[in-house]
Amino acid sequence: MSESTLEALGGNAARPAQYGHDALVVCDNLVRIYQSGSVEVQALQGLDLLVHEGEMVAVVGASGSGKSTLLGVLSGMDAPTAGRVRVGRWDLMAMPARERVTYRRQTVGFVWQQTSRNLLPYLTARQNVALPIASVPRRQRRARAEELLDLVGVGHVADRQPHEMSGGEQQRVAIATALANSPQLLLADEPTGELDTTTTQEVFDTLRTVNREAGTTVVVVTHDHAVSSLVERTVAIRDGRTSSEVLRRESDGDVVHEEYAVMDRAGRLQVPREYREALALTSRVRLVLEADHLAVWRDGGAR
Ligand code: ADP
Ligand code: MG
Repeated sequence: MSESTLEALGGNAARPAQYGHDALVVCDNLVRIYQSGSVEVQALQGLDLLVHEGEMVAVVGASGSGKSTLLGVLSGMDAPTAGRVRVGRWDLMAMPARERVTYRRQTVGFVWQQTSRNLLPYLTARQNVALPIASVPRRQRRARAEELLDLVGVGHVADRQPHEMSGGEQQRVAIATALANSPQLLLADEPTGELDTTTTQEVFDTLRTVNREAGTTVVVVTHDHAVSSLVERTVAIRDGRTSSEVLRRESDGDVVHEEYAVMDRAGRLQVPREYREALALTSRVRLVLEADHLAVWRDGGAR
């Protein structure tokens, strides 16, 4: 029996592995409560999410579901109210202010929805990309900026300022800028929110290229459910929790989308409303364990 099997069986002195021990990003029962006056808003309500190194994940959800709050926490700009959040070796819950700055500079890259917020208007694309690596010698900095602009497919705008570029070009330069200091994790909050469908596709293609070629782990937030056809894994957030996932797989040349419900570590899962309505499931259901699946029956069913 292999050592890992033994460990899995608990036949080893080692303690059971912690939730998400091998993941790059771990959100464990994450809670973020905003207090505005006497009103409390629970933006995140026990969110669980694991992202492994090298993955590209899209996070979708209605407006107000907690997507930006999640990215704010992962970027180190905001601290959660409760729960555990780790990115690589950084425990973002316990991180002192000074480490937070180092974390933001070294570990994450960020792209905002507003094109104007990502780039300085009076600098060229090349200068914008070179800005986060000001400590690198000039010639190397220039070469690195050009290499990144080529990677995201906008080498031709190197000498242009943002107002001389299209929205899609600006967002791709923003991606290159976010990559300048080689972050482990690239976060993008609705980077295509101001773009049309074709340009949206281009920006997602760029993120996939970055993910595949630079090996950067990508978490991209969008309110557009159609993106699940553009990325391998789409996680849906509802009311501050992850509720379902769509995995995109290629099988014999066909693209297959498989939808999964997300079960939290206490075993709770959300049954989609259409299923509940179709079978008139109410507050009490019967669970019947079968050999290879679990059956859920309406109250009074399955006698
Ligand atoms: P999304 O990005 O999915 O639209 P957000 O994370 O921005 O959602 O917001 C989640 C919830 O938290 C919303 O109800 C929003 O109004 C609230 N919220 C976000 N930021 C703040 C804040 N700074 N103060 C108070 N409430 C906030
Ligand atoms: Mg948002």
